[in-house]
Amino acid sequence: GASPTVRLRQVLGQMPDYKPGRPAAAAAGVTPFKLSSNENPYGPLPSVLAAITEAAGSVNRYPDMAVVGLRERLGRALSVSSDCIATGTGSVAVLAQIVQAACDAGDEVVFAWRSFEAYPIVTQLAGATPVMVALDDRARHRLDAMADAVTERTRVVLVCTPNNPTGPTVHRAELDAFLDRVPSDVIVVIDEAYVEFVRDPEAVRGLEVWRERPNVVVLRTFSKAYGLAGLRVGFAVAHPDVAAAIRKTATPFGVNSLAQVAAVASLDAFDELNERVESIVAERERVVRALQDQGWKLPDSDANFVWFPLGSDSTAFAEACEAAGLMVRQYGDDGVRVTIGEAEANSRLLEVAEAFGAR
Ligand code: PMP
Repeated sequence: GASPTVRLRQVLGQMPDYKPGRPAAAAAGVTPFKLSSNENPYGPLPSVLAAITEAAGSVNRYPDMAVVGLRERLGRALSVSSDCIATGTGSVAVLAQIVQAACDAGDEVVFAWRSFEAYPIVTQLAGATPVMVALDDRARHRLDAMADAVTERTRVVLVCTPNNPTGPTVHRAELDAFLDRVPSDVIVVIDEAYVEFVRDPEAVRGLEVWRERPNVVVLRTFSKAYGLAGLRVGFAVAHPDVAAAIRKTATPFGVNSLAQVAAVASLDAFDELNERVESIVAERERVVRALQDQGWKLPDSDANFVWFPLGSDSTAFAEACEAAGLMVRQYGDDGVRVTIGEAEANSRLLEVAEAFGAR
């Protein structure tokens, strides 16, 4: 057809596309595994599936727009008032709502890089300017440099712990020192998408910080430890005024009725889900120890993935994984992120890593 004459925002041309991993081309007879999106390898629990199935009978009705049942259940689980909770279609949507609630055109959002790929995208979509501060040589946040990067245009700082895609946590002591330097009218988001996998005793617990500092917002998701990635539900814990502002920026009826009941049923099944988290953590520890024994020097990971900072060898390593049927996520010439998945997938990763040769 004719080329469109509609005017689109120029910023779209400068924004990267959000790219999922390439599909792995496994040899015939080799089971392929998807280790590219930090998903939970376990399918839904029977109790969660039953709740979804029951709710499916009422999909002619709109969902509860105020998400009352889930917000109250979350409030009980976390010992916070439901006024302090804002939900969205995945924590990435809640993040976009936070940035939209806080930023006018030209305002700044500070975050570490590399970190979650959606950060520059949601920032630019809001008309704000990303200010990216390089990680240190152990792939950790440089919070001192991030504090130096805060200006009077800064409205939001994003702190990702454990950091996606590199794995280390931010420690409580360094975060406190950072927060003491950041003006209290700047929102500091602690993105805890992977918090359930953290075993580092010095790691920040976002809710503890939030209770002391009204400018802190804790971001959580049902996509990872809770295994509901396909249903799209995440939430923020914030001061009631901030939570109300975040709710104002939501698309009406965004969190659908199946997602709402599945999230409630998952909170009810915490113990069973937590056993799965424990086994994923045990697999991570097995993988990390075996890689160390092979001679690999990797950053610490407290998440459900490991980061191979391979520089210009990244493509070769991603291709070796794909040839073995493992779909992984390559980040240009920075490195390759591999999700901890089924035990068989993890063992196959160890074989690929050994054959590739430790770096
Ligand atoms: N934050 C981080 C750090 C992530 O890695 C992800 C998912 N990759 C998200 C947020 C968003 O997850 P979701 O939208 O599924 O809640």
